[in-house]
Amino acid sequence: MTVPRWLADEMVGRLARYLRFVGCDTLYVRGLSDDKILAWAQREDRVLLTRDRRLAARAPRSLLLDSPEIGAQWRSVRRAYPDLPNDVRFERCTECNGELELYRPGPEAPREGPVPWDRVDRGLLLYRCRACGHLYWEGSHTASIRSRLAAWADLGAR
Ligand SMILES: [Zn+2]
Repeated sequence: MTVPRWLADEMVGRLARYLRFVGCDTLYVRGLSDDKILAWAQREDRVLLTRDRRLAARAPRSLLLDSPEIGAQWRSVRRAYPDLPNDVRFERCTECNGELELYRPGPEAPREGPVPWDRVDRGLLLYRCRACGHLYWEGSHTASIRSRLAAWADLGAR
């Protein structure tokens, strides 16, 4: 089974971010009517992720999430879609769902922001969102996301 594209409604925003962390194409919508959400899911053949039972029942493809807790939600998605990656992949922007690409800044590139430029000079890879320009790299942030994903997987196996 392949992993589908997702459409997360406003009640599951954190889940949407985690799906992007593992490289899944995940739209996150806020402030849209149910009809608009359903039309969007259908048009792009996305699986709707929601905590709204009535909305889930109306969607051609949906996954209803019973728990408000992110770990339980993650396990629900992985139970339904066992091929879901469980590791951080630098493929999707967590801010906007844009695609990431490897970014090699030239010597003239501005060296600003929170990027650890000294580590970049020593070979740390940078990834840039093609849509919004946000930069990503391996660091303490990704390490903590990885350990959270691993912990959720362990709980699910019990
Ligand atoms: Zn982006």
